[in-house]
Amino acid sequence: MSPLSPVRPVAARWAAPGTITPVQTGSGAGAGSRSTGRAGQPHPAGATGGSGGPGGSVHHGHQRDAEQAGGTSSAILAAVASGVATDRATLARRLGLAPSTVTVKVGELITAGVLAEAGAASATGGRPARVLRLTPDGGCILAAELGRHHARIALLDMSGALVRSHDLALDIAAGPEPVLEELLTAWTELRGAIPADAVRAVGVALPGPVSSRSGAVDSPAAMPGWHRFPVGAHLAQRLGLPAVVENDANAMALGECTALATAPPEVGADGAPVAAAPGGPGAPANLLFVKAGSSVGCGLVLDGRLYRGATALAGDLAHVVVGATGDAPCNCGNRGCLDTVVGGSYILADLRARGIEAHEPADIARLVGDGDAQATTRVRAAGRLLGQTLSAVVNFVNPDAVVLGGLLSTLEPFVAAVRSQLYENCHPLATRDLRIEQSAAGADAGVLGVGQLALRQAIVAL
Ligand SMILES: [Zn+2]
Repeated sequence: MSPLSPVRPVAARWAAPGTITPVQTGSGAGAGSRSTGRAGQPHPAGATGGSGGPGGSVHHGHQRDAEQAGGTSSAILAAVASGVATDRATLARRLGLAPSTVTVKVGELITAGVLAEAGAASATGGRPARVLRLTPDGGCILAAELGRHHARIALLDMSGALVRSHDLALDIAAGPEPVLEELLTAWTELRGAIPADAVRAVGVALPGPVSSRSGAVDSPAAMPGWHRFPVGAHLAQRLGLPAVVENDANAMALGECTALATAPPEVGADGAPVAAAPGGPGAPANLLFVKAGSSVGCGLVLDGRLYRGATALAGDLAHVVVGATGDAPCNCGNRGCLDTVVGGSYILADLRARGIEAHEPADIARLVGDGDAQATTRVRAAGRLLGQTLSAVVNFVNPDAVVLGGLLSTLEPFVAAVRSQLYENCHPLATRDLRIEQSAAGADAGVLGVGQLALRQAIVAL
């Protein structure tokens, strides 16, 4: 078995009882026409190799084109790896690409040693199609999502599929250089027997606004020493590889879309992938990913593309001033921010002020699980205020789906409160077809998303 055998994200990983519509992952929509807009839209820019550079990468230009550069090739890799399409003709049909584009892209990927061609297969007895597969030693991607007190680190194969991931404790307040050194050590351990030169790119998601030009965090709250530190350049120089940096909620939004779009296809009685029904499950074109953890954040995918805004602040829900917060001081220096009610670190502080032992986010989950009345009431209040605030965003943006991620989204009272407020406060048309779901990618959403951006950089650099 290859050391890079992929393990696909499991939809049920964070399944909480009863409150959230289960995400359908068993559909060929993944690599079908609806989904390609997420994992790799066959956009003209992507189809021609991309006119721009990567998000936050120091190797190329502007961040807005990050998803487009390499997008077509990454969609081909995902479709081949998931078994949705393993020959050129099927790839063209499923991804909505011109056969000539597929031929060129597949040729490039074979030359680069990422794809290989094996044997021949013909179900119909006609001219046999050459079957494509991912090269087992074609390379890998390293990714990390840093939180305030922990990091999720991951190894992905060249289709963007997760090979393995795990958590480690770290204190982001220690500053960028020591934290990034810890990360490099952890990546080396995670890589194990895979040689260093098999790594094609790295990606890091950070809990703050990420500058599109420099790959640095810009004005983050409670991250001493990180302001304008060139994270991307630092990693690229240390490793000699393309390095992509992205905001964590943005990475999660993209990771969720990737997980939905590359879900293994439903297999029919004949063993062939079943085509998705129009409008069926898959990655929605307009998705609002809400991360409710130590802090609250939001990533927006609009028309199949990540939306970052003018200064990469788009989706910053944490510091929206909400009257109902009671004017509490926020760690950003302002007062009355949504985070002071919804952020996990503020919930913990509130519980401690009431004499309850609660020091890390997992303690909130434990207390709510144990039916602690004060913790449950507090978490429900957080969900209500988040739902009320989100309802304005949902009316305004009119997304297809609101996806809830982060630790609080695993708690039923929290999710129920968010849902009820959305239904109560949104325009009926905004919620009529709205999917409100728990993240299918779960704890791996961030590493899948930033890993996908790193993969596209690796493809551009091939
Ligand atoms: Zn604030």
